[in-house]
Amino acid sequence: MTNTKSLKLGAIGLGIMGAPMAEFLMNAGHPMTVWARTPEKAEFILNQGAAWAQTPAALAAEVDVLFLNVSDSADVEQIVTDENGILAGAHAGLIVIDNSTISARTTRDMAKLLAAKGAHWADAPVSGGQKGAQTASLTIMVGAEPAVYDRIEPLLHHIGKTLTHVGDVGAGQIAKACNQIVVSGTLAAIAEALVLAEGAGVDPARVREALLGGSAHSRMLEIHGARMLNGEYAPGFKAKLHQKDLGIVQQTAQELGLALPGTSLAGQWMNALVGAGMGELDSSALIEVLRRLNGQTSQAD
Ligand code: NAP
Repeated sequence: MTNTKSLKLGAIGLGIMGAPMAEFLMNAGHPMTVWARTPEKAEFILNQGAAWAQTPAALAAEVDVLFLNVSDSADVEQIVTDENGILAGAHAGLIVIDNSTISARTTRDMAKLLAAKGAHWADAPVSGGQKGAQTASLTIMVGAEPAVYDRIEPLLHHIGKTLTHVGDVGAGQIAKACNQIVVSGTLAAIAEALVLAEGAGVDPARVREALLGGSAHSRMLEIHGARMLNGEYAPGFKAKLHQKDLGIVQQTAQELGLALPGTSLAGQWMNALVGAGMGELDSSALIEVLRRLNGQTSQAD
């Protein structure tokens, strides 16, 4: 394993996921410099000794490895290609690790731009949610050249428990799209199961308890099932980001000429959830759309 202690790290995107991840990386003993669009979001880590960079370009110029954790493909593209973006400051040997969930296409485009400056890209989207980020136990799906993966693997161990080098650049984002297919289908199935229990006049909490002991057990039934029962919709994973992810899945499927009918349906649920004004809530609020459709009592009121 490479000794990485001397590497200077940077971080952009200090939201629900990025904030704890940057903190773990700094607490592992690395010098940390950050930039944030909303500077107040950086206060917690500046107070612990991180340095501030004026622009993404300045940050890219001074660090060895730069972690990104922003929302969507367009955000990553903007941070890379803006006049004062990462590309303007990139140097030979710089590695950008993108923990955001974005499209494989944008990922490969960004990697090409950086390669022209001798810099490298690794897509490293994560699964495990806010809890996984806060406990450094994320699942990380990595797309990178093998030599780049070997270099960053020790760093990723500071934020994740299960690392998989899926393939070359872009492969991590494809794996994450696959993850979101499973997650969205499971979420919709859990919502339907609880709505059926409620509609039948059977205690949905007891039903969830029973299901957790059998083949229907899943971490999502544990965590998101509990949120649905208790109406606890503080994010978590914002519904608008879940909707964005299903857009990425469909766009990728369309480019490849693939039909994913089940995921289309899950995407429609997510559209309805965001359309109903619940985009900032955790995506487990999906059950509220189903409750409304069926004339059942909301847990959010
Ligand atoms: P979040 O709390 O909304 O944080 C996103 C951060 O990115 C914010 O601090 C935001 O800055 C910054 N940002 C977004 N667009 C930007 C831009 N164009 N320029 C500069 N900064 C920008 O979201 P999150 O939940 O941490 O999610 C981050 C990524 O991880 C997303 O791609 C998401 O799909 C993925 N993810 C999330 C979870 C989860 O459970 N939350 C799980 C797995 C993967 P401002 O503060 O200025 O708005």
